[in-house]
Amino acid sequence: MSAQEYDLIIIGGGPAGMTAGLYASRAELKTLLVEKMIMGGQMMTATLVENWPGYPGGIDGPELMARFQQHSVEFGLETTTGEVEKIEDLGRQKRLLIDGKEYLSKAVLIATGANPRKLDIEGEAALVGRGVSYCATCDGAFFRNVPIAVIGGGDTAAEEAVYLTRFASKVYLVHRRDEMRTTKILQNRVFENEKIEMVWDSVVCGLDSDNTGLTGVRVENVKTGEQRALEAVGMFVAIGVTPITQFLGGLVDLDESGYIKAGESTHTSVPGIFAAGDCRTSYLKQVSTAVGDGAVAATQIEKYLEDLKHS
Ligand code: NAP
Repeated sequence: MSAQEYDLIIIGGGPAGMTAGLYASRAELKTLLVEKMIMGGQMMTATLVENWPGYPGGIDGPELMARFQQHSVEFGLETTTGEVEKIEDLGRQKRLLIDGKEYLSKAVLIATGANPRKLDIEGEAALVGRGVSYCATCDGAFFRNVPIAVIGGGDTAAEEAVYLTRFASKVYLVHRRDEMRTTKILQNRVFENEKIEMVWDSVVCGLDSDNTGLTGVRVENVKTGEQRALEAVGMFVAIGVTPITQFLGGLVDLDESGYIKAGESTHTSVPGIFAAGDCRTSYLKQVSTAVGDGAVAATQIEKYLEDLKHS
């Protein structure tokens, strides 16, 4: 069977990918968006998005993403579920292997986003689903009236700690420094919440468990070396993200943290391959910046395809 051909294949169905899909389809480019799991990306685990303009009072992450999807397919964007196994640069065309099937495209946009970072400590992997979680919206309700710990000091940790006080009897917020990097408004919500106890200057040094799952989180103060056992049967890890770029196998240049080296123009080191959203080196990772990236990428791709026609 011959390979299906497109002007543009977008990899990733988060805010960046869906925005690029909307712009590209509206510009009448034959576009396919491939998503590995469910459309919406990281926003599918966001509780309330308060800083997406136009929604005073906030909007649920999944609801916002459902609107993005509806809007992008309205212009004829084709979407499919599948895993991109390989991308080959053939010059004027790129060959993609998606779930074992071959596709050809003149341009490719990588908008794969990022995954939650792991602590990488003993017992963590084995306790996932039995006390250890990376998503408060997904798993928070399993921890009613019990003490839990949240690890991290950024926006995600602050938001998750506050959200989890709806269920948990107590939330320990463990941060490795003595000040948070979160925005002032979120920080104030943390400090004002009586259910949250800050555990400053501390890192997780061990996990206790029995056959029911996690039974305690041991932390060590990085300044004094003092150890403390937190009575916590849940641990939500919110220590940032890792870009999903490993599958590229060195095809485009990455920075030292694994983000795709692509400037504001979204061009990567390979002509015809573009990158947008959280998988790209950038100063800020928000829905608004991903949306901006998606729009820039689609217009740059349009220009690239026009130039290709005349070359
Ligand atoms: P982040 O901003 O990178 O913060 C990660 C936090 O985890 C930092 O406090 C960091 O400590 C800590 N950390 C990193 N590695 C660690 C380790 N191995 N052990 C212990 N602690 C560790 O990540 P994020 O909070 O997930 O946010 C990611 C991006 O999404 C940010 O740009 C953020 O602004 C954005 N975001 C925005 C919102 C919002 O606007 N409502 C909500 C969520 C996320 P240090 O501070 O010491 O580095």
